[in-house]
Amino acid sequence: MPPVQTVRGPVDTAELGQTLMHEHVFVLTPDVQQNYPEEWGSEDQRVADAVEKLTALAATGVRSIVDPTVVGLGRYIPRIQRVAEQVDLNIVVATGCYTYEDVPFFFHHRGPALNAAFGTDVPDPMVDLFVRDITEGIAGTGVRAAFLKCAIDAPGLTGGVERVMRAVAKAHRRTGVPITVHTHPGTRTGLLVKRVLTEEGVDLRRVVLGHSGDTTDADHLCELADAGFLLGMDRFGINLATTFEARADIVVEMCRRGYAEQMVLSQDAACYIDWVAPDVMAFLPQWHYTHIHEDVLPYLREHGVTEEQIETMLVGNPRRYFENVGTG
Ligand SMILES: [Zn+2]
Repeated sequence: MPPVQTVRGPVDTAELGQTLMHEHVFVLTPDVQQNYPEEWGSEDQRVADAVEKLTALAATGVRSIVDPTVVGLGRYIPRIQRVAEQVDLNIVVATGCYTYEDVPFFFHHRGPALNAAFGTDVPDPMVDLFVRDITEGIAGTGVRAAFLKCAIDAPGLTGGVERVMRAVAKAHRRTGVPITVHTHPGTRTGLLVKRVLTEEGVDLRRVVLGHSGDTTDADHLCELADAGFLLGMDRFGINLATTFEARADIVVEMCRRGYAEQMVLSQDAACYIDWVAPDVMAFLPQWHYTHIHEDVLPYLREHGVTEEQIETMLVGNPRRYFENVGTG
């Protein structure tokens, strides 16, 4: 079997075991953090806290987490390496760019933005940067990204969102690594992802539509799964605009309809995320790494989801997602 790249090096896909397909270690706003560092506090303490939380996760039987933290979310691989050295868990990292609207200012006057001025087809430098992260490693660390990440949210297919999505698709075509897209199922953005990635020649079976579990519209999810996508039921514990039962019941319903082979489970949790004030976190008591094993899996079993279906969602589907690398 082909290996998948992790922070500590290549791992056979058969060794991934139970895999949570969308968990962050840290989500940060680096220029705010660098100028107002008091909440972040001590680097050593944050790393120790991450080691403790991920060690507790590993004790549930999870062997791997897939971390879609890219540019726009404060990716910083040397810190992740420090954590990974101390935790018995595979951490798979990503490349890509996270935006709901515009590309970061760094890219504004590079690549396609210059087409009008030069009257030529200037390639997007994002593509080469993403490919280098996958083939050579990230920022001199030697750690290689094993998948690509982009986002589309309620604003829809803005110019910036489309530019990143097409760059991600081109990097996928060159490297074969799979793709995760942050989506907003309430506005049916998965259909826009389908159009753009299909135009770019992407096999939709290599794509996770993240946050699909934010909706309870089973017919819409079936439409996306029938197009080939894997559905990320990946925000368990974020029960602000929804409930625990709503998130769990849509997984039960999709299993009942025969779609266990096209769902993956996760929590979109982090050891520390500076997007959420510490006192707001108090309103999200189930938003942590072990919620799936402590609360969600027992509920799924009680409501008719079989052990085989759970194994498919936690082990089989992640493994299949990371296989076929190199076949584009
Ligand atoms: Zn996320």
